[in-house]
Amino acid sequence: MKPALLRLLRIAAVAVSGLTAFAGVALAQATVIQGARVFTGDEVLPTATVVVRGRTIESVTLGTDIPAAAGAEAAVVDGAGMTLLPGLIDSHTHNFGPALEQALNFGVTTVLDMLTAEAMAAQWRRQQAAGAVPGRADILAGGPVTVAGGHGTQFGVALPTLDDPEQTEAFIADRVAAGADFIKVIYEAGTAGRPLPTFAVSTLPRIVAAAHSHDLLAVFHISTAEAAGEVIAADADGLVHMYFEGAGGAEIVEAAREAGIFVVPTLAVLETIAATGGGPELAADPLIAPFLTPEQRGGLGRDFGREPDPELMANILADVGALHASGVPILAGSDAPNPGTTHGASVHRELELLVRAGLTPVEALRAATAAPVDAFDLGDRGRIAPGLKADLILVRGDATADVRATRDIAAIWKDGSRFERTKAGPTTGRPRLEPTLLSDFEDLTARTLPPKWSHSTDAFAGGKSTVTTGAVSRDRSGNALRIEGEIKEGFAFPWSGVMVLLGARFNDPVDAGGIRALAFDARGEGATYQAMAFAESLGMQPAAASFEAGEEWVRIEIPLSSFSGLEPSGAWAFFIGGPTQLGAFWIEIDNVELVE
Ligand SMILES: [Zn+2]
Repeated sequence: MKPALLRLLRIAAVAVSGLTAFAGVALAQATVIQGARVFTGDEVLPTATVVVRGRTIESVTLGTDIPAAAGAEAAVVDGAGMTLLPGLIDSHTHNFGPALEQALNFGVTTVLDMLTAEAMAAQWRRQQAAGAVPGRADILAGGPVTVAGGHGTQFGVALPTLDDPEQTEAFIADRVAAGADFIKVIYEAGTAGRPLPTFAVSTLPRIVAAAHSHDLLAVFHISTAEAAGEVIAADADGLVHMYFEGAGGAEIVEAAREAGIFVVPTLAVLETIAATGGGPELAADPLIAPFLTPEQRGGLGRDFGREPDPELMANILADVGALHASGVPILAGSDAPNPGTTHGASVHRELELLVRAGLTPVEALRAATAAPVDAFDLGDRGRIAPGLKADLILVRGDATADVRATRDIAAIWKDGSRFERTKAGPTTGRPRLEPTLLSDFEDLTARTLPPKWSHSTDAFAGGKSTVTTGAVSRDRSGNALRIEGEIKEGFAFPWSGVMVLLGARFNDPVDAGGIRALAFDARGEGATYQAMAFAESLGMQPAAASFEAGEEWVRIEIPLSSFSGLEPSGAWAFFIGGPTQLGAFWIEIDNVELVE
């Protein structure tokens, strides 16, 4: 099942890179990490000394003696009382913008991408192939495979879709041509309340066979035990989520073990589904907090709007423990940047959760180092051994006894270069926003909006929804704003309404830390309408809250705390508009205020 040719090619690549370190005209100065406890990816060396030269690990020797070959010029780092680990590998991520820099800032030196824009992944890969990229994590990306309107199409990334099973082989060949390192298949039928189109079960083996014909692994997104059973039967190589709906039980564990598949449980994101508070807890850790950007903090604070379900989380942990106990390889993956997770930091949370599921700390460390290398045939990394890539982290304490010690990072090396971590630091000098009337629409003429107000629809993201606005007169209260629009199919999260900027421009944050709620009068057609907040902590993904409005005017107050992930100290806009359901709508609003 493991494509042998690929593994051979990668071993050859390792051998070549090991050679070049010695073939240079002048040897680069070595770095010596002396006398640390070393987790090699496979075993724990209580005290060892590791020499790094150029991009690679030159030697690993027991004890504290520095080998003569390191040279008199070598820079020595004292590792006493610390643990040296292979750079961490996050086996389930989605990468956009600064994701790879954020990952490295927390000691994650390689990420496996499970869905992003193919062109962006290709560009990152070209840069990696051209030489060391010391400032960010390496990425290997799966070619995404889903159907039109299926899971994965809602993120605003233009995705090709496989809608005709007869096109399977051609479609997979296209992913290979685009540079796919493996094939990521989304097999997700949604929920009873929100069903999603997905593949027929008969198409699954055909997709796997097509991937294998190119020597690529086929890994699957699933959420139910039933789907997990179906993809295992289809000869899948791995599951990139733990099933969390439907009875798992011993049968599926046995099927997984027999099939020789691996599992990336993504406990960090499942914890957000169970709403047990892992993201905010991680964000509050003093070892993590200083290194989070506002957007990362906001991401950890986001949720899926679900009620806490500790029993669900307990069941998931028990199922992962059962898989592990039966010998199924478990890989650490965060699913960052989904709600409640963020790049880099969430791997440390994932390690802790894997220990809760029953892995020993050493087994959990293996899940984030050597295990993904073996599962995905990554070859040149994930272990500390001569000739391998010098992606390393040095942490204070004994991470092989207490896995939470990985958060206490003393040093990071990527491609042999020491990486200086970035502390985000507090944002100062931002204009403070006092409680204010955003508009009473009295100055409105029939066709225009007040200054700082604009129409806002999903056309911005390639959708087709439309909006128009105009003044309506209101008894004794002057004008109100009437918003009419149509929510049309064309973007997975369609929207239509109006937006008001708080600063001078788009994406110009102000400090709204003293504001408690967005308040306005509203009248509508009895629908559930949508408001959204935009802020630095939300990145390019606004947070939504809903409200209802019927025929009579009512005063709506939406506490800013109901926008999950919003940090008001960096807010820059609000949106008020139509429902999320398709169709025509209208709503009238008035006296829009930010109140204490
Ligand atoms: Zn994912």
